[in-house]
Amino acid sequence: MTVQPKIDTSPAVSDEIRKTTCYMCACRCGINVHLKSGKVAYIEGNRDHPINKGVLCAKGASGIMQVTAPSRLRAPLRRVGPRGSGAFEEISWDEALELAVSWMKPLRETAPEKLAFFTGRDQSQSFTGWWAQAFGTPNYAAHGGFCSVNMAAAGIYTIGGAFWEFGQPDWERTKLFILFGVAEDHDSNPIKIGLGKLKARGAKVIGVNPIRTGYNAVADDWLGITPGTDGLLILSLIHCLLVAGKVDLEYLAKFTNAPLLVVEDGPEKGLILKNAESQPFVIDRRTGAPAPWDGKGVQPDLGAVYQGNRTVFQHMAERYLSPDYAPEAVADRCGIPAARIHALAAELARVAFDEAIEINQSWTDFRGDFHETMPGRPVSFHAMRGISAHSNGFQTARALHLLQIVLG
Ligand code: SF4
Repeated sequence: MTVQPKIDTSPAVSDEIRKTTCYMCACRCGINVHLKSGKVAYIEGNRDHPINKGVLCAKGASGIMQVTAPSRLRAPLRRVGPRGSGAFEEISWDEALELAVSWMKPLRETAPEKLAFFTGRDQSQSFTGWWAQAFGTPNYAAHGGFCSVNMAAAGIYTIGGAFWEFGQPDWERTKLFILFGVAEDHDSNPIKIGLGKLKARGAKVIGVNPIRTGYNAVADDWLGITPGTDGLLILSLIHCLLVAGKVDLEYLAKFTNAPLLVVEDGPEKGLILKNAESQPFVIDRRTGAPAPWDGKGVQPDLGAVYQGNRTVFQHMAERYLSPDYAPEAVADRCGIPAARIHALAAELARVAFDEAIEINQSWTDFRGDFHETMPGRPVSFHAMRGISAHSNGFQTARALHLLQIVLG
């Protein structure tokens, strides 16, 4: 019998493993970085990390190039030719630091605020901001992606918090999941894992994207939208829901600013109406009289009119019930047939209201009212730069949050 040679099929690629998180996108997957003789040799996903459970995408694996790419700067460079000539010479760190101190020391001693400090998207902005404060300048900023900043600002402005980059849909309970403009490189591993969970449970996934690749290719349904018109589509969905009466009036009345009154005329037109104590208020359905918006037991009236001033809800309904937002009016611009917009709105309403869930968890709301259970609408959304990286990205993201709010 021939003796088989012993082959080491799993040669050690490293002599040390450091656990950290991947910085190649915002997901922050857990990674094991293998070092050989102190140098990065290999990156693998960390199976024990809750975000990615060992999955590593191609972009994450190529993170090794951050340290091994031939184009990486390995020493400070000083320009030695005219600006733009590309002529540089390497200098030592000591020399570079001395040079920087010679520029900055006099400034710090006389007028530190004259230093404007701008950093790239370096993922360590808390540190660079701390450094600028210690220097004494309030004039510091850093680059942020205009996609994620649009999403974040719209979330904070509309619902008081942004969750797109770091939050996640409820993968365990979602029955209908709609992706708006999510590029394959974004939220890769958590979304992949989540989509797997949804598909295993038979939940429906719908992709809204100009092209059917990546996540949209594995979606159960796809709407090939004209780029930049997602906001119009979303507002048309809100139109359909309002027409059908499929909005969560109880949620809107109790947990949003929809019952607050809006100044109808005068210099404060469009602002929230306030009482003598400069506080916004609502009309209580039990008494028909003004009441604190956060008063215990108060039942805010969405349909109230007080001294000629209508509620936020009435303004919103008037705006989006307009025929301008009917599917027939937006279909051509969105590149989606009106019938499909009607069908999507009907699907949203059906799952949100007819398949509503009740989470068996008692809670007390901000008015101090106690609830035995928590109602849930098993519709989830995820969106990113496909909708937000447009000149109307902020408003589009706000429209999507509004859709979530009216669905409760
Ligand atoms: S999804 Fe990919 S690039 Fe993003 S953090 Fe995870 S491994 Fe890194």
